Amino acid sequence: MATVTLAHPDDFDGWRTGLRGLVQAGVAPADVVWQVAGEGGDLLGGAAAPAPTSAAFSVPKAYLEVARRVICHRDPERFALLHELLVRVRETPGLMADTADRLVHRVAALDKSVRHDVHKMRAFVRFREVPDEAGERFAAWFEPDHHIVRLNAPFFVRRFTAMRWSILTPDACAHWDLNSLDYTPGATRADAPGGDPLEATWTTYYASIFNPARLKVKAMTSEMPKKYWKNLPEAALVPGLIAGATARMTTMIEASDGGGSLDELRAEASACTRCPLYAPATQTVFGEGPADAALMFVGEQPGDQEDLAGHPFVGPAGQMFNRALGEAGIDRAKAYVTNAVKHFKFEQRGKRRIHAKPMTPEIDACRWWLDRERTALKPRVTVALGATAARALTGKTVTISKTRGVPQTLADGSELWITVHPSFLLRIEDPVAAAAEYARFVDDLRLIRERAGV
Ligand code: URA
Repeated sequence: MATVTLAHPDDFDGWRTGLRGLVQAGVAPADVVWQVAGEGGDLLGGAAAPAPTSAAFSVPKAYLEVARRVICHRDPERFALLHELLVRVRETPGLMADTADRLVHRVAALDKSVRHDVHKMRAFVRFREVPDEAGERFAAWFEPDHHIVRLNAPFFVRRFTAMRWSILTPDACAHWDLNSLDYTPGATRADAPGGDPLEATWTTYYASIFNPARLKVKAMTSEMPKKYWKNLPEAALVPGLIAGATARMTTMIEASDGGGSLDELRAEASACTRCPLYAPATQTVFGEGPADAALMFVGEQPGDQEDLAGHPFVGPAGQMFNRALGEAGIDRAKAYVTNAVKHFKFEQRGKRRIHAKPMTPEIDACRWWLDRERTALKPRVTVALGATAARALTGKTVTISKTRGVPQTLADGSELWITVHPSFLLRIEDPVAAAAEYARFVDDLRLIRERAGV
């Protein structure tokens, strides 16, 4: 037996070094004991695993990306499974894509569970103010299913860079002091602070975004499992909001997306990691609108405000879009509005997040969702707002000026119209040119309304 001792349960570097030595020396997965320092000791008393040599050793990127998450799973078999998978992946390049393979399937299930947990932590961590001698400080308590604190902490650093914070969990705690990210051993619930004034902000915010038309208690409890409720100040509001929902529901029912499958896609997409854009973004911004909408609008990607709010086209481009829709006689509540790319891509400059254009691999990765949205919705007319949406819908690079105003036929036989993106209108500095372009955009929308019969 060869023993590898990891510094902690999700010690990626220790795991990687250990595995490299084992694979280079040809040690079989069944002959290895993986243990974590301080957890039960060297029970089987095996020899230390062989150290890696300097010989070239390549590992497919797709494997490493999955392994980075899977080692955070609580399943004690994860190390042996990843060992077995690596041996097979090195023999069969492309194996990672073979989801029918029993081992790939099993590892993918572990990966999915970790990704889900990562998403839950991002969604349900709530900081409370706990000032200390150095000033403002925030702390949160969270109970993850897996060992994801180190995996997820960089996200919180990016998201709350200007705040001093600690996230306490039973396994490990992460601390950000504006300069460095540190970890300490697990804490208990009693170490975490109770309620404070920040809760008022959260509860007001939650009450304002609560949408009774989306009220599905079963789905709600699966998205927000009860075990997290005790840590969420807004959870206390839910019974009251549910009780008062019926009246608001009646007025909202027409605009709700009502159908199951778009809801299912939305829930699934909330844990999407199909391209790297999910990591720095706050959340997936999925499409919105009635499940039987005849008209579907596709934008580029959520912007800063959409990323924070979780809804498409609510920032400056969204306001411009709403105004133009109104002038063209299109009721936005009756259309389905989505984006080609569902995560906000940006460059951090100081405290500002500057929009960055999505690249073709990101557009193509996100097409998975757009295609499924279209299949579920079956719109009579789809409108590409700008070149990114046109690329996502046609699979080709499109010149707007050449295709504008000429309907095209998509693979399912429905109609595609291509026009400019509202942000393009916002960027035109000359007021005369801006007014002319805006009028042209409204004309496009009028024509589209007629074709869609809405
Ligand atoms: N721009 C887009 O393309 N989509 C949004 O949701 C917001 C701005």
